[in-house]
Amino acid sequence: MMTTPNLEQIIADHRIEMAPGGYWNCHCGINVDEKGSHAAHVAAVIRDSGLTVIALPEADDADDDGSEWWVRKDSIVAEDGGVSLFAGSTEPMGADNAAELGAAILAAAQVAERNNHE
Ligand SMILES: [Zn+2]
Repeated sequence: MMTTPNLEQIIADHRIEMAPGGYWNCHCGINVDEKGSHAAHVAAVIRDSGLTVIALPEADDADDDGSEWWVRKDSIVAEDGGVSLFAGSTEPMGADNAAELGAAILAAAQVAERNNHE
């Protein structure tokens, strides 16, 4: 079973350091003067770890009660107590639609979690 990558540990393992002679090395040993941008190296390491960074969509609509809605082919609503998903079909969806739906569900989860702490 694969363990979940730890973003903080990855960043700590790939911090930039000044090496003797004035070169910039990544803590993992790669000379980032030769490999190009350290930021690009760290982004590649994070991507290769299986983690992903996505932009979460803002809600498409909000109700007076504070509920927020994401309207896709399916509707997602963050309300008191959690996230509701109104899925209308069991047909396979395209990868783009699945990724968009997943991002909207994550966004709704963040709103629900924030509302639980308010
Ligand atoms: Zn590194």
